[in-house]
Amino acid sequence: MKQRIIRIHDLVGLLNALYPPALAESWDNVGLQVGDPNAQLSKVLVCLDPSERALQAAVEQGAEALLCHHPLLVKPLQNLTPVDETGRILFAAVRQGVAILAAHTNLDRAGNGLNDWLAAALGVGECRPLLGGDEQLLKLVVYVPAGYETKVADAMFRAGAGHIGNYDSCSFRRKGVGTFRAADGCSPFIGQVGERSSVRELRLETVVPRELLNRVVDRMVRAHPYEEVAYDLIPLANRREGIGLGRIGRLAQATTLAEFAATVKQALHVDALRVVGDDLAKVNKVAVCGGSGASLLNEAARQGADVLVTGDVKYHEALTADSKGLALIDAGHFGTERLMVGHLAEAMGQGAAARGLEIEFLEMQGEEDPFKTV
Ligand SMILES: [Zn+2]
Repeated sequence: MKQRIIRIHDLVGLLNALYPPALAESWDNVGLQVGDPNAQLSKVLVCLDPSERALQAAVEQGAEALLCHHPLLVKPLQNLTPVDETGRILFAAVRQGVAILAAHTNLDRAGNGLNDWLAAALGVGECRPLLGGDEQLLKLVVYVPAGYETKVADAMFRAGAGHIGNYDSCSFRRKGVGTFRAADGCSPFIGQVGERSSVRELRLETVVPRELLNRVVDRMVRAHPYEEVAYDLIPLANRREGIGLGRIGRLAQATTLAEFAATVKQALHVDALRVVGDDLAKVNKVAVCGGSGASLLNEAARQGADVLVTGDVKYHEALTADSKGLALIDAGHFGTERLMVGHLAEAMGQGAAARGLEIEFLEMQGEEDPFKTV
């Protein structure tokens, strides 16, 4: 049997399915940043930062794509010259034929994403998202002429509709007959002005989180062939669970802040931690947020967390946490995120295998925290 050629767009599709771009913050830039979607692909190097070293490692290991946590491009470029590292990476990536992709805040918020991995590494169980973990869902029902259902459904899925647990592209379709009569001044896609038309249509149903509703409806209307799109929005009692910022859960056994700090240090392989709180304070309920998560400290305190583990904590945030009786462990931005490399390579490898895509995912070795403890 002829082997199917794998291309960069297969990788983008896999990444979008596991870590939907719709989960990313509005300021973020995730997905394919550099590269030709039609270029062939066999190996991907997974790393934390899109650095020149990482690109060089990808070239040396024969990887045609670099999958990073931090995006290379967030703000629009005013020029493209090799005078700074971003410019040099862009030049080299295009010349050497290495695509660059990012899974950033979508990886932070997704189920089986960075914060789930961080919580698991620290022995925090029974986890749920610290913020935004129970968003309201709506059922979106749209009536589509037969033959256009795939185009309309794909547009809705790409905008973030159709996720149920670990499944994406969820929909239900039933055949029926739609009727309508176009008034004067209309330009109907099917039928004539003033005449009643009967058309074979599909009732296409999917689910949408409320926060994504406007985007999903907008994309649906644009993909739909009709001038006037008939659709229903039905509020559901169901909630979308498992997706959101940070995680909160419990340790198998309560301990002290000092002992828990030692566990964190060992689990995350960091040289030093900055700790706010009493060494002997009891720690059972733990909140985590990889990277810069001090903005979640009020929410962690409100939900009764004993400690928040994150990075990039500022002085006044430390004072605020202390005043609320919330302990903080700052294990560094790098320290709380680097574990994504191994886990993302594994998750993507499993996802590729499940879809019959022969792609090898390699882990970047030797990435270093720019901060040293002296
Ligand atoms: Zn980060």
